[in-house]
Amino acid sequence: MSYDADLFVIGAGSGGVRAARFAGSLGAKVIVAEAGPMGGTCVNVGCVPKKLMVYASEYGDVVEDSKGFGWSFTKPTFDWSALIANKDREISRLNSIYQHLLERTGVQVVRGFATFVDEHTVKVGDKTYTAERILIATGGQPIRPPIPGAELGLVSDDLFSLAKLPKRIAIVGGGYIGVEFAGILNGMGVQTVVLQRSAHVLRGFDADIQVTLREEMRKKGIDVRVETSVIHVMKNDDGTLCVDLDDKTQLTTDCLMWATGRAPNTAKLNLAAAGVKMRANGSIIVEGDDFQTNIPHIHAVGDVIGTPELTPVALEQGMAFAKRMYGAAQDTVDLTILPTAVFSQPNVGTVGLTEQQARTAGHDIEAYRSRFRGMRHTMTGREEKTMMKLIVDKANDRVIGCHMVGPDAGEIIQGLAVAMHAGATKAMFDATIGVHPTAAEEFVTMRHPVTED
Ligand code: NDP
Repeated sequence: MSYDADLFVIGAGSGGVRAARFAGSLGAKVIVAEAGPMGGTCVNVGCVPKKLMVYASEYGDVVEDSKGFGWSFTKPTFDWSALIANKDREISRLNSIYQHLLERTGVQVVRGFATFVDEHTVKVGDKTYTAERILIATGGQPIRPPIPGAELGLVSDDLFSLAKLPKRIAIVGGGYIGVEFAGILNGMGVQTVVLQRSAHVLRGFDADIQVTLREEMRKKGIDVRVETSVIHVMKNDDGTLCVDLDDKTQLTTDCLMWATGRAPNTAKLNLAAAGVKMRANGSIIVEGDDFQTNIPHIHAVGDVIGTPELTPVALEQGMAFAKRMYGAAQDTVDLTILPTAVFSQPNVGTVGLTEQQARTAGHDIEAYRSRFRGMRHTMTGREEKTMMKLIVDKANDRVIGCHMVGPDAGEIIQGLAVAMHAGATKAMFDATIGVHPTAAEEFVTMRHPVTED
């Protein structure tokens, strides 16, 4: 049977575009459908604009800190609308780049929302397309919890196009998005409260990261409240919001943002028409290195399949899928050593096992930890501390976890992830010459374990 395409990709985000480009360059006839702007969450309402906003929010402290180095300024002011306009211009540029990247590899881009008609057919607007294979790469979206008044709160998507900055904000959730936006908004002068329901921010991260980041956020003036849940949100007559908390207190704020997780975008795909199986939370079940659903020629990658919701994961999955299907390569995606950064202020960088995970998994470990004040702050007077930690498996001396809170943690952890991939031992870290004077050299000079079994 002949089809309109070898591969129809639903969603032009990180995973979909990567898969389409590779499949196209390997000779497949590919069509991609996208209803929104090109590039998906990462480019439009995620990593890219978020990082630009992190940069924007850091200048206030940089100016303040420069005084210790002899600079003086009149009070700097910040123009939110100028930032948004400049950010929008940059994002449009990236949208066009994505479009051109696809066109250059002969991929046809169809603008509109794709739904399944049957297991080889999708519909976009009033046109139907048939394909030998279909790849679902529709990503996810932020969710609001089922709390009365939840609709009065914003989600992260909304923050990227707010007409004006609020004076006060309450951010519910202390995960990646909660702590990143807390840093951004606080840095822009918004009075910021983080309401985290459990005892620690950044669930699943090493305990030293959780504690250090919370302390540093508080030093910056963010009101981080743990073990605090929202039970009700109401609008006051003056337009402000009244937030009822489980400790029976109330909080008045101008704006509330839910940073309480994301859900896969599957509800409107009409997956039932193709018979594709999902989990109860709507994520698509895939198996094997081909990211195959229960329908053998329908595949899925990225946030929609419930793997860690990280752009590089979707990129790797999309690329491996395309190479396996349309090339000779038999690439597999190995997530056992998965570096990640949180662009909180200061940054968090982590790769490998936390101390707690390592112990639970039965490793006999040594943990090395260093806390220090970065050289810059000996002159600024700022009390910010950097924390670095290594987890070492005593059985073979392998470094099985690297963790950091501090400036450029994401940049530093990338190199350590390479070392971990190469199987580096603590002895190799110790034998590595430091780069002086840097913070990163501390990772090769930690000599004494803090805990021993
Ligand atoms: P996370 O899962 O990281 O955090 C969710 C937060 O919301 C947690 O603090 C959680 O508390 C809390 N929470 C969940 N449900 C409720 C509820 N019903 N009521 C109150 N609090 C609740 O989700 P995010 O939305 O922050 O981010 C989604 C994902 O996007 C991340 O996990 C990450 O994979 C990705 N991301 C990656 C970034 C990066 O790479 N830098 C940046 C932004 C997002 P508790 O801890 O108690 O469960």
